[in-house]
Amino acid sequence: MEIKLTSYGATEEVTGSCHLLNIDGYRILVDCGMWQGNWDNYVKNWDSFLFDPQNVDAVILTHAHLDHCGRLPKLYSKGYNGPIYATGATIDLAKIVLEDSYFIMDEKAFRKKMPKMFGQKDLNRAMKSFVPLNYYEKQDLNPDISFKLHNAGHILGSSIVEIKAGNKTIVFSGDIGGEDMPLVKDIDIIKQADYVICEGTYGDRAHHDTKTRDKELIKAVQRATLNRSTLLITIFALERTQDILKVLNDYYESHLDFAVPVFLDSPMAAEATRVYKKHLDYLNEDAQDVMKRDRDIFDFPHLKITNHIRQSKEINTVPPPKIIMAGSGMMEGGRMIHHLSQYIGDRNNNILFMGFQVPGTLGHKILNGAFDFDYYGRKIEVRAVADQIDGFSAHADQSALLQWLGGFKQPKQILLNHGDKQVLEKFAIIIAEQLNFETKVLKFNNPLTLK
Ligand SMILES: [Zn+2]
Repeated sequence: MEIKLTSYGATEEVTGSCHLLNIDGYRILVDCGMWQGNWDNYVKNWDSFLFDPQNVDAVILTHAHLDHCGRLPKLYSKGYNGPIYATGATIDLAKIVLEDSYFIMDEKAFRKKMPKMFGQKDLNRAMKSFVPLNYYEKQDLNPDISFKLHNAGHILGSSIVEIKAGNKTIVFSGDIGGEDMPLVKDIDIIKQADYVICEGTYGDRAHHDTKTRDKELIKAVQRATLNRSTLLITIFALERTQDILKVLNDYYESHLDFAVPVFLDSPMAAEATRVYKKHLDYLNEDAQDVMKRDRDIFDFPHLKITNHIRQSKEINTVPPPKIIMAGSGMMEGGRMIHHLSQYIGDRNNNILFMGFQVPGTLGHKILNGAFDFDYYGRKIEVRAVADQIDGFSAHADQSALLQWLGGFKQPKQILLNHGDKQVLEKFAIIIAEQLNFETKVLKFNNPLTLK
């Protein structure tokens, strides 16, 4: 049996996951995500596929983040006609992500007079081609090839893919979750594999203590209350929003006299939260326990979800103290921009960043002390205090990655993807030193034979 792996994205970079496994002519594509970040990265999504989607037999999606699912509709526009396997929760979240991304692409295409990457009908075909699978359910692809999904502990429904081809086992980590996540269960340890394709986004660093994470968030809320000020929290629609809601829920439910209003001002985050409520069985023990006491762990007194623009504008008329959660997570757009224009000029207010800010984004500039902020041509001085809590990251840090990899008994090779070049090169050395596993960094469009 000849097995060939070729990666067409997320090689020596963190976005654009797309990996093709050719097993004796049967072709499985694991993920087909978008490149994200600056404009050069974004326009790469329009490049032709370097494989023929018509020849792909099956697609497996690890999770719903855009850098893993964003180019799925494009596959259909180029002749793919098969299923996309994923967990039920991933499918529900991916539909929200793909629709939102289509809307943004449509708008950009119109403004910049560029062609669309794919059409509405390709998006609809992708949406209809999802096949839901439970974790650990064996799916046969042909008499010699089957696969199973395991919990990756990253976001709701996220999966590790274990593919059996004859007597060989190939494991794709997808994205691996951080430790002690507020909602999702801890990652599954897998013991046997010949080849492990593993992400290494944070392969070179340690996250802050996750135990202080919830306290830091509550402290920021209390500070806004004492100062009678406004706390702006930048959110990512998937996982981090729901993590934050759960922490706030726990606090508000146990402090019933606490009446500071919280506005969730993101229709996409609100929609994603509804998916979390639908798939409660994916949540960890702690979240399930809270569920037993409190019927809705994402809803608490004084939480207001503002879907319409009119409601969003009305937030400004509410006197402080108040808390506003809005996207985008890196301030590259979304309703947060309008809230910034209202509150950033007052040193009494706080802006809380809940995750890594890519250099070049507005979020990165403000977090690093930008002097002013350009609101549609109007300069507003930045006086509000910016802070960051990074313990909510949905990605494993170096020690968590090593712990997961250490679960394997004698794999033939670890192949690293999904991380900056220098990070992955450093991490490969650490894996070889600490676990004594042969490790290699995957390269773009460079077929490897898995013997
Ligand atoms: Zn992810």
